[in-house]
Amino acid sequence: MLMGNTSLCIVLRVSNYKENDKMLTLFSKEWGKIDALARGCRKSTSSLLSSTDVLCCAEFSFHIHAGRYYITQATPKTNFYDIRKNMNALMNALLLLEICEKSVMPDEPNGKLFALLAGALYALANGDYPKKVLIFFIYKMLDILGLRPMLKHCALCGRSPAKKINISAGGVVCENCLGEEVPAEYIENIEKILHTLSKDIQKLQFSCDKGFYDLSIRWLKNVLDFEPKTLVLLK
Ligand SMILES: [Zn+2]
Repeated sequence: MLMGNTSLCIVLRVSNYKENDKMLTLFSKEWGKIDALARGCRKSTSSLLSSTDVLCCAEFSFHIHAGRYYITQATPKTNFYDIRKNMNALMNALLLLEICEKSVMPDEPNGKLFALLAGALYALANGDYPKKVLIFFIYKMLDILGLRPMLKHCALCGRSPAKKINISAGGVVCENCLGEEVPAEYIENIEKILHTLSKDIQKLQFSCDKGFYDLSIRWLKNVLDFEPKTLVLLK
């Protein structure tokens, strides 16, 4: 077996292939997004059976041939089983997977986004409030993708900011610039989220009323160049 062809991955998407195989889209901590074939994994005797479903996190070993990845071995870490007990948590988890699938590029490792996704999935599996997890994910993701919300100065002119936000400008704005007025608490929440490590997501509590949730979703949509399918199913 080749050395070094092992990576911790989260299964983002699964499609059945031939009679007993699956094609997986994986978020690899080391290599970014990869498509990998899991041969024979739908047989009940397969050692890959428990690692090849959506949401599974496992240490995968690969045989790489002609640029294609073939899974040879998998050591399961967790399948975030408890997320499936709560439909709302599950829908939110699937949204996070969809966002990662579209944001992570092949051969582009993104350890920070990987850690954020893992932290968010653990929080959902532990019964953390799904809306809170999603909001946390959104602002941390903006930061990781180089779009950290500007909160210290007006995002348009650099003056001292008011309690106003302009999503397309990427942050708070001053009295004179165009923006929507928001409660001071929303800006404080964003600040708190940005100062919290992804792994500490469950330690941070903030109130996510409808106004803050809606603002966060609009911010998310503004930076994605696609409309997540899962988003329309969220209530
Ligand atoms: Zn301004």
